[in-house]
Amino acid sequence: MLKLRILYLVFLVGCGPQFKIQEGFTDLASAEKSSCFYNIDSKGRLISWLPQTQVQFYFEDNVPFDYRDEIKRSAEKWKPGLIKIATEAVSSKKSQLDRKNIIYWIKDPTILAKNQQAMTMTRWSQNKIIDSDILINAASHDFFKELPSNGFKIHLESLMIHEFGHALGMRHIPRVESLMYLSLGFLQIRNLASPVDLDSLGCVYK
Ligand SMILES: [Zn+2]
Repeated sequence: MLKLRILYLVFLVGCGPQFKIQEGFTDLASAEKSSCFYNIDSKGRLISWLPQTQVQFYFEDNVPFDYRDEIKRSAEKWKPGLIKIATEAVSSKKSQLDRKNIIYWIKDPTILAKNQQAMTMTRWSQNKIIDSDILINAASHDFFKELPSNGFKIHLESLMIHEFGHALGMRHIPRVESLMYLSLGFLQIRNLASPVDLDSLGCVYK
């Protein structure tokens, strides 16, 4: 019987020392040296959605309508058409392990740590991603689209581009200009791909 090893990884943004990886994750030392910042499987292969060339996401029904267009725009930033978000939303009661990729708007303060702006959970089998969910921490953070009303807001587009990067299989990139840099400051706008981002994306998604 074919035994599939399923790995499960949790990404955190803006959480520094709390960044954690669940058991079973492989050593990334070799990946660090290359320009391909992806998670890798036990055979050293980059983990991605391929051969799928389009990834479908759904909004959980309580994602505010006011933010949905902004999130849809963020989804287009890596490569137009690579990530699609369905117009119909799914119920918040749905399981996170149902192989439907869902964007959750989390209002319960017990689910995510206070300093986490968002979390992307990705499951894969061998080098193929099979499920990815993004949890936005709306319990502890406020977001803005264009003009922040105070100095403690998070730029939603910048945050979501980063999370979609994780959803595509990418890891943090230790360069401050990268969309995949570990942390995003209050009011910081980081919505343009740098050469290191494009190089990493192009390792998999041509
Ligand atoms: Zn991250």
